[in-house]
Amino acid sequence: MSPYTHADDNGYFGRYGGAHLPPHLEAPIAEVAAAYEEARNDPEFIAEYRRLLTDYVGRPSPLFLAQRLTDHLGGAKIYLKREDLNHTGAHKINHCLGEGLLAKRMGKTKLIAETGAGQHGVALATAAALLGLECEIHMGAIDVEKQHMNVVRMEMLGATVVSVETGGRCLKDAVDSAFGTYAQNYENVFFGIGSVVGPHPYPSMVRDFQSVVGEEAREQIMAKEGRLPDVIMACVGGGSNALGLFSGFLEDEDVRIVGVEPAGEGLDTERHAATMSKGADGTLHGMATLLLQDDAGEPSPVHSIASGLDYPGVGPQHAYLKEAGRVEYVSVTDAETLDAFSMLCRLEGIIPALESSHAVAQAIKVAPTMSPDEVIIVNLSGRGDKDVDYIAEVMKGR
Ligand SMILES: *Cc1c(COP(=O)(O)O)cnc(C)c1O
Repeated sequence: MSPYTHADDNGYFGRYGGAHLPPHLEAPIAEVAAAYEEARNDPEFIAEYRRLLTDYVGRPSPLFLAQRLTDHLGGAKIYLKREDLNHTGAHKINHCLGEGLLAKRMGKTKLIAETGAGQHGVALATAAALLGLECEIHMGAIDVEKQHMNVVRMEMLGATVVSVETGGRCLKDAVDSAFGTYAQNYENVFFGIGSVVGPHPYPSMVRDFQSVVGEEAREQIMAKEGRLPDVIMACVGGGSNALGLFSGFLEDEDVRIVGVEPAGEGLDTERHAATMSKGADGTLHGMATLLLQDDAGEPSPVHSIASGLDYPGVGPQHAYLKEAGRVEYVSVTDAETLDAFSMLCRLEGIIPALESSHAVAQAIKVAPTMSPDEVIIVNLSGRGDKDVDYIAEVMKGR
């Protein structure tokens, strides 16, 4: 197995990862690790997961040559991996279905999770409805107010949304609240993490569930171009859509791999979430990883125009891939992201999520420096319906 992909038995990628847990959560998370180890080797489990990806999510998602964008930039061919066309509009459904199936296999009756902007909560509530599981989503009170539509969607899907009134009433408080409830009820409850983060086995498990993205993209580019791409790129929040795509190409040393982080209002300001560029070793949410933190090791407040990217940590496999030199991490600003968003709307008729627009922005930067016979694949992780009201406001102010 690849050194880039394989965590050791304790869930470490190099010095990153592991399961840094309070004693009362060690047993429940170890139970998840054991169950996943069994499930991933069970052909029936994998077949059921694949069936849902095909019949429910609508996979494979197309690999689309963005011809007008390519012509406009005058350089490398840009292909978009269309995760925005999935049921529920983003890549998150891929791992939420996997987690839901594992929960059922373990005999759990309920999924629990935290959510920030609500995207993970909606995808998990969707999986819960499909699989006949209860669902409880913890969300900071401030986010409940800001992301009203997602609260409505989760409730329509039958989930209970718990508004968290403690602390700063944001994502961090929602995490604490959800884990607290989980610790009291883990006999019946499965914790559904929303990215390649958290304690082992979650970073490896969520990565495995997302790896279908890279597997498909590899086959699709071989069919269309008869060769591998020169560069692949994806935005990095926690890092799940990125690792999904990257997993298909990590062994191909000639393929350049680029992760794109949010530089927000600039790396020289306090208002960014560029963990890979500016972070240092630390521990957060059960994992050793790179972290934006203050002198006391507390996670820093972070900012991105894309709410799905404003996370002060990053999945441990990314921290390792950076150190190993296999993946380059760059950042683009809010302003560059908005320009990329508009360009994709106007030239291709695709309204992308603001998260995904970060990856598009990086492609816009580098494509003109490459030759027309070179190929870029961009992971278009989600659609922008959720962002249009906000962007309309921002554009008015510009
Ligand atoms: C949540 C989200 C992201 C960020 O999460 P990753 O785990 O880094 O992929 C990116 N794009 C979209 C559309 C999202 O909803």
